[in-house]
Formats: sequence, structure tokens, C-alpha cells
Amino acid sequence: MTVLLEVADLATHYAAKDVTVRALDGVSFTLREGEVLGVVGESGCGKSTLARTVLRLVEPTGGAIRFLGEDITRLDRRAMVRRRRQMQVVFQDPFGSLNPRHRVGEIVVEPLEVHGIGDRVSRAARVAELLALVGLPADSAGRYPHEFSGGQRQRIAIARALVLEPKLLIADEPVSALDVSIQSQIINLLAELRVRLGLAMMFISHDLSVIRHVSDRIAVMYLGRIVEIAPTADIFERPAHPYTQALLSAVPHTDATRRRERILLSGEMPDPAKPPGGCAFHTRCRHAMPRCSVERPLLVPRTIEGGAVRETACHLY
Ligand code: SF4
Repeated sequence: MTVLLEVADLATHYAAKDVTVRALDGVSFTLREGEVLGVVGESGCGKSTLARTVLRLVEPTGGAIRFLGEDITRLDRRAMVRRRRQMQVVFQDPFGSLNPRHRVGEIVVEPLEVHGIGDRVSRAARVAELLALVGLPADSAGRYPHEFSGGQRQRIAIARALVLEPKLLIADEPVSALDVSIQSQIINLLAELRVRLGLAMMFISHDLSVIRHVSDRIAVMYLGRIVEIAPTADIFERPAHPYTQALLSAVPHTDATRRRERILLSGEMPDPAKPPGGCAFHTRCRHAMPRCSVERPLLVPRTIEGGAVRETACHLY
């Protein structure tokens, strides 16, 4: 399948007071057309910065972002706006991302107007089509965001993101602001839309059990870097990196007769302004050895069962 997105050694550093915060510190991965990549890690690991940097809402400090083979890292603002037609985003807080003074129809149609697509009649038809696609009532276009529940507002945000027929949807913690009972409805909707529309997705979450249902592969992030990336079933059956093992130990096994050993991580994630040397995880890793505090492990690919590839950044492998 065609490679849609290729991210190579991407870095995003911020100056904060007297220090440099390495929010992203050399991230590389590819995403194929129609594929869903889950991105998981604790709060502060850089996953939302990754979403914003890929979209160039935040400017990268180094590295490259290629979309359908084109290097978009240094496209000027106008060219980037055109490119973003094919790269859309849904954020965590559906209320904060919808203009409360605009009717839903105005919110969903806005991207078509900005890009000069269609006329009044075709745009109205497209809005109606999108609202039906995300499961909202036909009269929603004339109502305001505050008249809807949290889950429905996230459906509005998804309709707006899809109105331009993007190839890539970045969903940044799309369900974490919603009630647990509503979360699965939105996850199922995204999984269904992905199949119907052939969408590729980066699905970002702090919760492995949330991204399990939608992702083909999962990238695990720690302190601005990817420490492991592998097919979803493989991550859940045979987590290799000690950090992945710890994250996964909190998730119940799909097979109720099997239990995972609970691994409690000691301490908090270190400050990204003062990352530990060597392997950034060595201060919390139960397998750490002397080499780990001085030598940074690289993400090394290995072919696993079925010819798939798993990449792990750990001196144990
Ligand atoms: Fe643990 Fe060392 Fe592997 Fe880092 S490189 S995860 S510290 S064993």
C-alpha cells in the first residue's frame, strides 16, 4: 500500500526560561494509505506535540515530514493551507473547538467556503450528507453546539474534519473528555468511517485499551521519542519494551483466563527540560543496566511472525 505519511527524525524543541524543552526528540515512522496508527504514552510524552507538528500547527525544529512523497516541512503558509485539505484533525475538547455562536451547518460548511469548493446548493447537500454519516439528526444544521451532548459535539467536529474528504485524520485524544458510556460510540464511529472512507488515521490516546479497537499498529512514546512500534495484536500479546510492558500491565487481557503481571512504574516521568541521558526510561526501568544511562538505544526493526515488523528501542534486544 502507498506510503501516505513519512516522518523522519522529527524534532520540536521549545525555549522555556533558561532551558530547552525537547517535546519531540527524533521521531520517525511511516503511515500507509488507509492505515490507523495508534500513538500512546503518558501525559507529557509528546504525542499531542507530534500531532500538531505533523500538521505544521507547531513548526518543527528539525527532521522532515513527507506527505504522499512531498516534503511539506518547509512549505509556505499558503501551500500548507492547501495541503491541509487532505490532513484534518479532531481535538479532545469538542466544545472548545466549535464556535458557540455559529450554527452546526455553518461550522461544518466553513472548510468548503475557505477552500472555495462548490456553491450554496452543493455545500448544503454535502453538509447534510456529512451530518447523516456521523449519525446526527437531519435538523442539526440549524441548531447551536450547546444544544448537543458531548458525544454529539464530537460527531459535529468529526463531520467538519471530514467535509473536505481528507486522506489523513489525526484524532488527538478524541474521547478522553467524554463519559465512558459515550467513548465506545465515538470509537466505533471512527472505526466505521475509516473503513467506509478508506481513511488513514493517527489516533492519539493515553489509554491503550482505547486505541486497541481502532489501530492496525501502535507506537509507544516516552519523553519525546518512540520506544516501540508494532502491529496492535503483537503489542498486546508480546510487548517487548519494558515501558510498553508496564503500560500494558494495567490493561485487562482479552482472554479472561489469562492475567498480566502488574508492573508499577516508580516515580513520575522526568522533566522533558532535563531528560535523563542514555535511555530516557532508565530512571524507571526495572531492567536498567549500566549501559542504559550512557547509551541511547536506537529504534531497531526486527521481522516477527507473519513477516510484520516490530521496532524496539532497548538494549535488551
Ligand atoms: Fe530499560 Fe535499558 Fe531497555 Fe532502557 S535500554 S528500556 S533502561 S533495559
